[in-house]
Amino acid sequence: SSEDEQEDENVGSKMPHFNHTPSPYNGPSASDLSKRRKLYLPTAVGPYYINPLNLVEGKMQYLYDENGRRYLDAFGGIATVSCGHCHPDVVEATVKQMRLLQHTTVLYLNHSVVDFAEALAAKFPGDLKAVFFTNSGTEANELALLIARLYTSCHDIISIRNGYHGNATSTMGATAQNFHKFNVVQSGVHHALNPDPYRGVFGSDGVKYANDVQDIIDYGTCGRVAGFIAESIQGVGGVIELAPGYLPAVHSIIKKAGGLFIADEVQTGFGRIGSHFWGFEAHGIVPDIVTLAKGIGNGTPIGAVVTTPQIAEVLTRRTYFSTFGGNLVCAAAGHAVLRVIEKEKLEQNAFVVGSYLKECLSSLMNKHEIIGDVRGRGMLLGVELVKDQKLKIPAKAEMLHIMEKMKVGKGGFYGNVLRITPPLCFTKEDADFLVDVMDYTMSKM
Ligand code: PLP
Repeated sequence: SSEDEQEDENVGSKMPHFNHTPSPYNGPSASDLSKRRKLYLPTAVGPYYINPLNLVEGKMQYLYDENGRRYLDAFGGIATVSCGHCHPDVVEATVKQMRLLQHTTVLYLNHSVVDFAEALAAKFPGDLKAVFFTNSGTEANELALLIARLYTSCHDIISIRNGYHGNATSTMGATAQNFHKFNVVQSGVHHALNPDPYRGVFGSDGVKYANDVQDIIDYGTCGRVAGFIAESIQGVGGVIELAPGYLPAVHSIIKKAGGLFIADEVQTGFGRIGSHFWGFEAHGIVPDIVTLAKGIGNGTPIGAVVTTPQIAEVLTRRTYFSTFGGNLVCAAAGHAVLRVIEKEKLEQNAFVVGSYLKECLSSLMNKHEIIGDVRGRGMLLGVELVKDQKLKIPAKAEMLHIMEKMKVGKGGFYGNVLRITPPLCFTKEDADFLVDVMDYTMSKM
């Protein structure tokens, strides 16, 4: 929410003090941009913000509009801004690289990309040491699925209903969501029951949901599969924490069927969940392939696939190539992100502030019937809005209004889940302010 708006409406607490003066802005207005965006960027105008802000500057967890008005960013650029907007260390590393050399190709040597790959590999357990850089999460998942199919000489992939894995052919096939009906026909892709403790048929019994994966293998395949792909917390799907016991049980089922376990860490990685650096670590498993994007570059377009040298061989003995994958500027940014997360203890901050925020949001459930569920970990939190806490009927119309006020994202099968994914530098004072805005907005409805 914005500072001025909050003062006008007397929300109850003040937006935390922040010492930054935004630069003067002389560019086009929000209404002018809105009109032109409709003409030239039509796909950007989806059923999202009713009055999108014209954002011209960002500093850490704050954004500034054309009039210099400050907003607390509780969406973090769709969970991409891990260290904070324009973090000075990331800017410095990026600009330095940009001045030296922007781009060559991975066919030549350059220390930026090798240094980053080495630092990234050090964050993984076991043999997960072979890194391929991509430009996005979609490409990372496309590559992971390709590797699994090549390595196993199998075609069948299992993913979970309501998961989101990207917008290219294989990843759209693996994605099983309501809003994502692009009529992509993918042979050999199976969508397993969603182990969703809030709405799923087996509640929190992870092992019962895992049996469905075994059934898919038994009834729908030759008994062997290429792999399984899942997010450890479904992000776009509405911040759904998978039922306890599910991932370890599926891991052993997939291994028995000869498949590779792919952990999609595009949203859950880089310390966002607070308790662990990677989401899979919270489930006590070690995947065969891990995919990354979003928070890896603090906003620069970079993704990665990390796997074992043995599995990576299926690509290294072929000619596999991406023009911008491993771009030097993005690699410099990514490496700086790793250093900042460590230096500023952002993973620990995500845990402490995220747990506090979750507790505060949960306490509002007693006051506001519209809050059906509060879930997630660290700085990956979701608030599901319902018409009635017992019947769980999705509150879709109310959602748009609250989302707009809180500057958060939208998710879930019914589009009724507030997604709270701020930069990891979010403070307790920011959390208090966000909760006040939510409380105030809901009280006025
Ligand atoms: N995987 C997950 C879990 C995601 O949340 C997303 C994007 O939201 C993707 C993959 C696709 O990433 P990108 O939009 O960078 O292609």
